[in-house]
Amino acid sequence: MKNDVIIIGGGAAGLCAAVAIKRKNPALSIRLLEALPRVGKKLATTGNGRCNITNKNITEVRYHGTHPDFAMYALNRFGGKATEDFFNKIGVPFVFEEEKGYPASLQAASVVDCLRFAAKEAGVIVCTETRVTNIQLSGGLFKVIAGNMSFLAENVIIAAGLLSGGERLGSDGQMLELLKKAGFKTVRTYPAIVQLKTAPEIVRQLKGIKVNAEVGLKSGSKLLRREYGEVLFCDYGLSGPPILQVSGAAALAQSPVISLDLMREKGLDELTAELGERITLLAGRSTDEFFTGMMNKRLGQVIIKAAGYKLNMPVSALDKNAPQKIAAVIKNFSFTVTGNTGFINSQVTSGGLDTEQFDRKTMMSLDCKGLYAIGEILDIDGDCGGFNLQWAWSSALCAAEAIAGKGNKRNG
Ligand SMILES: Cc1cc2nc3c(=O)[nH]c(=O)nc-3n(C[C@H](O)[C@H](O)[C@H](O)COP(=O)(O)OP(=O)(O)OC[C@H]3O[C@@H](n4cnc5c(N)ncnc54)[C@H](O)[C@@H]3O)c2cc1C
Repeated sequence: MKNDVIIIGGGAAGLCAAVAIKRKNPALSIRLLEALPRVGKKLATTGNGRCNITNKNITEVRYHGTHPDFAMYALNRFGGKATEDFFNKIGVPFVFEEEKGYPASLQAASVVDCLRFAAKEAGVIVCTETRVTNIQLSGGLFKVIAGNMSFLAENVIIAAGLLSGGERLGSDGQMLELLKKAGFKTVRTYPAIVQLKTAPEIVRQLKGIKVNAEVGLKSGSKLLRREYGEVLFCDYGLSGPPILQVSGAAALAQSPVISLDLMREKGLDELTAELGERITLLAGRSTDEFFTGMMNKRLGQVIIKAAGYKLNMPVSALDKNAPQKIAAVIKNFSFTVTGNTGFINSQVTSGGLDTEQFDRKTMMSLDCKGLYAIGEILDIDGDCGGFNLQWAWSSALCAAEAIAGKGNKRNG
């Protein structure tokens, strides 16, 4: 049977597109094919189960890829307000915590439910456990093959995501490989919004400690990116929001180094003077207790050692350069990045289908009319904070508008 539209992938972008097309043009027949037994598995895990669904500050600097400007038409055409309207109409009002938007329920699973209900109410045919294995052109129509089944369609939307979160969440990257074989240009994929691995010696001693720090990502003397927030020391390296935020840039950088400023509110000279006074004040203590009361004790001990001093010696025995040397470590506590914890632990995949092959207003392939790509499979990824789901919604709504409009012309 011929379908007006086949959507490959029942994740954030695919479900949104299915509902949006039907709401604009109920006459169109839509079949959504999902490889897993349930739709929206990844969406249900987002935002630690709360779903950070959007962000109030959608700007180009928050997006990455070979051509991040590609995303701006969709993000402006269907930005935060249009997304909120769309979700309000399917029963999901938003709440905001500072700039981050969430469903009022604070439950990611309820966002999946409402998309599912809306798709069913609109008459979208959802086929789960249907993994697409090939797409062919046949007599002016697309023939979408899933194992021993095949479906014909006038339009196909690829909404199959990429590699982040692993196969459990439906992310195997197989659709990208298939499209590559069919001649589409792709951009190398790598994990982003992911924990960073560093040399283990120091981080292991600090495992479990959280500190507020300004995180600088450096390559040689060049500062590539700066973020502030809570950093978590782990046995493999570093985690926490600012680390996740710089991780995509770290993957591209040459010899990346993370520099933590553990006291950004104080300049180097001010801190040096303060530490000099503290040495005088606490001269009777031992160096392993020098920072006790000022910062985490274990962290303080590691800083003393990193500045080149021994623990268990009297504070009074520290030399005259000690305040400056210790302050320098606090202001620039550095870790060489050796890698990251991989796709399985990442929230988003950088790279994917080269956007130059697609129309930014409709998400349609420039060479293969009727074939659209939306969401993460395109070479666009956003920062942590609701930017990736916003890209999924915005790109889906653009494709939906284009397809529903075509249908209107044909039906009208
Ligand atoms: C743990 C985690 C937390 C996250 N939290 C947030 C957050 O709070 N805010 C935010 O903005 N972003 C978050 N993200 C990122 C966000 O989830 C993704 O950017 C978004 O889901 C991408 O949407 P998509 O529809 O393109 O892909 P997906 O949501 O991955 O959907 C793709 C779907 O296609 C299906 N599929 C794949 N191949 C085939 C095939 N061959 N045939 C049929 N079906 C197929 C998959 O099973 C899947 O259901 C998070 C990601 C993870 C992993």
